[in-house]
Amino acid sequence: MTDNMIAWDLGADRVLVLTIDDPSQSTNTMTEAFARDLTATVDRLEAEKDTFDGVILTSGKDTFFAGGDLNLLMDATPEDAPAIARGLDTYKAAFRRLERLGKPVVAAINGTALGGGFELALATHHRIALDAKGSLLGLPEVTFGLLPGAGGVTRTVRLLGITNAVLNVVGQGQRMKPAKALQVGIIHEVAATREEMFDKARAWIAANPEPAQPWDVKGYKIPGGTPSSPPLAANLPAFPSNVRKQLKGAPMPAPIAVLATAVEGAQVDLDTAFAVETRYCTNLICGQVSANMIKALFFDLGMINKGGSRPEGFPVRTPEKVLVLGAGMMGAGIAYVQARAGMQVVLKDVTIEAAERGKDYSRKLLDKALRKGAITQDKRDEVLGRIHPTADPADAAGCDFVVEAVFEDPGLKKKVFGEIEGLVNPDALLGSNTSTLPVTDLATGVQRQEDFIGLHFFSPVDKMPLVEIVVGEKTSDEAIARAIDYTLAIKKTPIVVNDSRGFFTSRVIGQFMDEAIALVAEGVHPTTVEQAATQAGYPVGALALVDEINMKLSQKIRRSLRENTIAEGGRWVDSNAYPLVDAMVDEYDRPGRLEGRGFYEYDADGKKLGLWQGLVEKYTREDHGIPFIDMQERMLFAESLDTARCFDEGVLRTVADANIGSIFGIGFPAWTGGVIQYINQYAGGLAGFVARADELRAAYGDRFEVPESLRAKAAAGETFG
Ligand code: NAD
Repeated sequence: MTDNMIAWDLGADRVLVLTIDDPSQSTNTMTEAFARDLTATVDRLEAEKDTFDGVILTSGKDTFFAGGDLNLLMDATPEDAPAIARGLDTYKAAFRRLERLGKPVVAAINGTALGGGFELALATHHRIALDAKGSLLGLPEVTFGLLPGAGGVTRTVRLLGITNAVLNVVGQGQRMKPAKALQVGIIHEVAATREEMFDKARAWIAANPEPAQPWDVKGYKIPGGTPSSPPLAANLPAFPSNVRKQLKGAPMPAPIAVLATAVEGAQVDLDTAFAVETRYCTNLICGQVSANMIKALFFDLGMINKGGSRPEGFPVRTPEKVLVLGAGMMGAGIAYVQARAGMQVVLKDVTIEAAERGKDYSRKLLDKALRKGAITQDKRDEVLGRIHPTADPADAAGCDFVVEAVFEDPGLKKKVFGEIEGLVNPDALLGSNTSTLPVTDLATGVQRQEDFIGLHFFSPVDKMPLVEIVVGEKTSDEAIARAIDYTLAIKKTPIVVNDSRGFFTSRVIGQFMDEAIALVAEGVHPTTVEQAATQAGYPVGALALVDEINMKLSQKIRRSLRENTIAEGGRWVDSNAYPLVDAMVDEYDRPGRLEGRGFYEYDADGKKLGLWQGLVEKYTREDHGIPFIDMQERMLFAESLDTARCFDEGVLRTVADANIGSIFGIGFPAWTGGVIQYINQYAGGLAGFVARADELRAAYGDRFEVPESLRAKAAAGETFG
């Protein structure tokens, strides 16, 4: 027996089972201690290889192995580069010795294996994954601004070829269920039970006494060819843009480094390829982008998804039967996610036909999932059976939770709540999916204002991961806790903000869109405006988004916002966007996609065809003189400065909510790790951000005025938030 965290268990059948179980943590990760123990185990395997016929590598935890130690990776700075590179090389050396042991080594992947854990599995000869609930496999490093640097890129390229490896595994960082991983080709077998997994492993060992990795077999060639082989050479130039498109706003440095590692590594021998991988990976680890992304997308997101903002002292309470008022676009989507989460849904609209149409939306999504094999017929029927469409208010009886999604009209919203408040359970939570209306005012339509809360979903509901929970003046802590429990139960991420017009997300995303429209009004070609946004890392062009949201709606919201803000003596700065929006609605009759006419043209099915040329003819000027970087930073800064004001006004409550809400709610570029990290990490830090905002203000107007709170922190050498 070794006394390390890899237990050594040699059976009478001469099969050695190695079980990884780090006693200091709930999951196995790549700690320094693990690296030492792994090397010691490999030493012993080599020394004692005459005593066994094969090795099964598995884990003593529910999961197989998580990846690198993200705390360590997040804190790395350029000075740590030599140590980081040495660490990666230690793993590479141990993995390489394992795959050249001369005895069959099988990974019995008993649960989730991601990142470094999956790289370990890739260094075995045969990978069998247990189809355990929630088990995920893959190399997600790129989603944290990193790349798999313990042989992951090099081995997947040699296993699958450059195209498959980059597009299906390392370029996007997909986390795959075992069946998908099998289909993609990164594992060899799936087992339904633990026993079956071990039986399969033993059978494979018996049948393959002297296995070698494909790349160690004489005459081996990379599947699909090397970068200089003609078909690949013809496709490679399109890779960077394809990867960026698929990643929708994810950071550029990591996918590009993945691509470089794959392409450079495929042209050299294995050892040199490993060295190339170490170099690119070390650079990413020591850079700021990965630090920001790990902080936001692993730690902050993890904290929020564990209910980190939930007020304490209330038992967890998830709804059993939810009344959804309004079966339109949002109500239908909300009904679907609730039914999928096991809740009974009463879906009410003014007519039974409208309610049935809302239910049809779920039917469509479920049938699609059934066709793709993602659910069974029974599951489909069960989920659909939970949605009860109705036009009868009496069906509200017995509901313990309400989500209202009727038209954005305060009078109507108050009226529908008034109708059902006495019919639902006496302590039912009363939630409104308003996107802009102050919740405190809507709450005056009900008796129990303490149970009234905003539940702001995003469209399309089944895809968008965020719910912005809006706390009105009278909303109780218990209502916040229940809203968080509900949001987590439907597998979405809750951020909690205080009430105001537009809350955080709707208000700040307006800045992004206004800036884009203003640029068009100032003479910039609309295509350039869209590129400014997407090349900055926004998932979609701003003008396409404006069309999606519809300018009639934004015009209405802006007019009432302007009027109210000015009446209340608040800060209001007009934008060059407004006259153009007004012209689009009132003069050109091009409000957006719904009408088939906006900044873009659409076909009858709402498919985007191309830019409306009239826009270019009327507005585009060659001599606008606005640098491309200014276009991008006008969008990024307008959103950042308004976020800072949201803090000052008490709308935002935590930095984590701001960062996560900005990425998942409004598409703020993910590579920044969220809007607050963007502000603090701008070149020159917060002081650099303030200086640049002052420049933008001088050039483009008072929208870029720096809030005093931010300027004071910059002057004191502090960070914001
Ligand atoms: P929609 O027009 O698609 O649907 C509204 C539905 O409410 C219609 O089916 C209508 O028949 C129904 N309705 C009207 N009066 C009713 C009544 N008295 N009782 C029951 N049902 C009634 O609108 P939508 O896009 O689903 O928006 C609904 C709400 O969600 C609005 O408050 C909107 O601001 C908000 N919201 C919309 C989005 C979005 O992207 N569309 C995003 C977040 C929030």
